[in-house]
Amino acid sequence: CGIVGVTGNKDAVNILVNGLKKLEYRGYDSAGLYVNDEGKKDYLVKRTGAISNLKSAVDDMDISGSAGIAHTRWATHGGVTVENAHPHYSQDKRFYLVHNGVIENYRELKEKYLSDVEFTSQTDTEVVVQLVDYFATKEGLNAKDAFKKALSKLKGSSYAFQLMDREEPDTIYVAKNKSPLLIGLGEDCNVVCSDSLAMLNITHDFLELDDGDFVTVKPDSVEIEDKDGNAVNDRKPFHVDID
Ligand code: GLU
Repeated sequence: CGIVGVTGNKDAVNILVNGLKKLEYRGYDSAGLYVNDEGKKDYLVKRTGAISNLKSAVDDMDISGSAGIAHTRWATHGGVTVENAHPHYSQDKRFYLVHNGVIENYRELKEKYLSDVEFTSQTDTEVVVQLVDYFATKEGLNAKDAFKKALSKLKGSSYAFQLMDREEPDTIYVAKNKSPLLIGLGEDCNVVCSDSLAMLNITHDFLELDDGDFVTVKPDSVEIEDKDGNAVNDRKPFHVDID
């Protein structure tokens, strides 16, 4: 299972598909991506099986965009189906989310907040994206605050998340707890990945994330907040020397 994301690069689709290819060694049963073309159009593509299945679907659709998130899934909750592949989305199709890890209390959250929502998958993950939408809609929170509020409800869970909001098409929100995740610093673009191998054709400079970190990634900025919500300004990137 693996995660890649990119914002600020017109070649986002290829960067994501190639990135997933590089993460194949981690194992997976399905794959998918969400790409936004500067707010003009957006695309969700998911396939079971090999990355090559996703790649041919993407090639057939002739899609493009400058920001997107992608995922290889290793199913823990729900069978191996296209619906259960990530990204998952909120019922109004505003929010898109990919996740590596397990949400321990997803059943309680579903019962407490989301009894009216029609789910499209059997995964633990979908509860989180529907919860973001719930807080955005019911409490009028912006994407960042709604996502943080949803995260505060997750008990004992492991996750590497990327969230996109159609209303902020160049922003990727990232959260990490007990699952690996890095931010790569490119030229006029930034990337997200489970392993630097996935993004070495874009950058060799990466920021490591700590458990509880919340990151706002835009083409020209990366803002990290620690688990207490304090801005982190002294994180130094590490340089990867291999090609
Ligand atoms: N628990 C999630 C699922 O089953 C994520 C699995 C993963 O880490 O790929 O969909």
